[in-house]
Amino acid sequence: MSFVSKLVCAKCDTKYRPSENQIMCARRDFGRLDIEYDYRRLGRFVRRADFGKGQNGIWRFSNLLPVKERFAVSLGEGGTRLLKARRLADRIGLSKTYLKDETRNPTGSFKDRAMAVGVSKAVELGVKTVVTASSGNAAASLAAYSAKAGLSCYAFVLESASAGKIAQLTLHGATVIKVRGIEKGEDPTVHAMLRAVETQGWYPCPSFGPFNPYQVEGPKTIAYEIVQQMDWKVPDWVIVPTGSACLLTGLWKGVRDLLELNWIQEPPKLAPVQPEGNSPLIKALKKNLPFEELKPERSPKTIAQGLSDPYPWDGDAALEAVRKSMGEGVSVGDGEIVTAVKELARNEGVFAEPSGAVGVAGLTKLLSEGLVDRNESAVILVTGSGLKDVSTTVPRERVE
Ligand SMILES: *Cc1c(COP(=O)(O)O)cnc(C)c1O
Ligand SMILES: [Zn+2]
Repeated sequence: MSFVSKLVCAKCDTKYRPSENQIMCARRDFGRLDIEYDYRRLGRFVRRADFGKGQNGIWRFSNLLPVKERFAVSLGEGGTRLLKARRLADRIGLSKTYLKDETRNPTGSFKDRAMAVGVSKAVELGVKTVVTASSGNAAASLAAYSAKAGLSCYAFVLESASAGKIAQLTLHGATVIKVRGIEKGEDPTVHAMLRAVETQGWYPCPSFGPFNPYQVEGPKTIAYEIVQQMDWKVPDWVIVPTGSACLLTGLWKGVRDLLELNWIQEPPKLAPVQPEGNSPLIKALKKNLPFEELKPERSPKTIAQGLSDPYPWDGDAALEAVRKSMGEGVSVGDGEIVTAVKELARNEGVFAEPSGAVGVAGLTKLLSEGLVDRNESAVILVTGSGLKDVSTTVPRERVE
């Protein structure tokens, strides 16, 4: 049973009934339609100890997902391991270090949690064609779920997307349209996608909240899994690789669900990590700017492809998440990211792509700056598989 009560535009506060099936705000203001739940009713219906019991993956949490369960399209997403990182913990000097291994999702990144929900909603709505804008992983994931559901998929991707991601896209049957790179802080793939939505009536399913609020709900399940895996003890920190900030937003929504239900008492401190060559959100945090004054990065430069969005579309919620959870933002250089990939691979047997490993670099920096205490616990989200993009991290290719 779903307990969605309403959708509320994050920009203009317009409210929509769930049955209106709205995807974007009708005022075209690019406000994310935040999905709200009836926690009172839900709290009477499920007890904490029974939440998601006896099933696997994200759909065991369908009470807090915005799709009727009979429409669920699944490839086995979610239910990833929480690994105690013993050797890495010694190296960085934080004994309670954990890895949430999202490389183990069906297409190799956490985006599967989001796209599973986004595509399931498309099926519920009777949609036939979906479209996305992406630096790679979200599109590859959307293509796989579209294949499973029998939907047509169009993907506008940056020309810089790695060969591995393009191969996934085309083999899953998506139509790939490569678009020239980011200029003057604008991502041309987003414009191309919006034009297709307007002219063709296709269902938008990028991993940005303002263009599809349903998929944002998928990554919430990471928060539920972490606290369950820690026996309902909340870690002090969760370290989050951040590009468009949809992952951080989803995670925060999941934390808030648990707080509203009174199933946890304190949020974990959330720490977004961005590459130095593209860190608009971290800059806004450090300068204590409101979201409206956040400046897009004019020309992002980083080996972390998945973190190259020049504008954090979900930055409003992300800033709130960091501030309300008493978290901290941090940016790391490409050299530190390469080191993080190697440390993870050599010490923990986890093979991550650069975007997937930035959390290790971020935690290392937070520790050295004294922002994370050595007695605290931290969960690093390892968001994407190293097999996605070997060009930047194989030893013979020098970075810097
Ligand atoms: C998309 C992506 C991220 C960042 O998620 P956002 O929602 O864009 O902040 C991090 N890691 C990987 C591997 C990704 O594909
Ligand atoms: Zn609005």
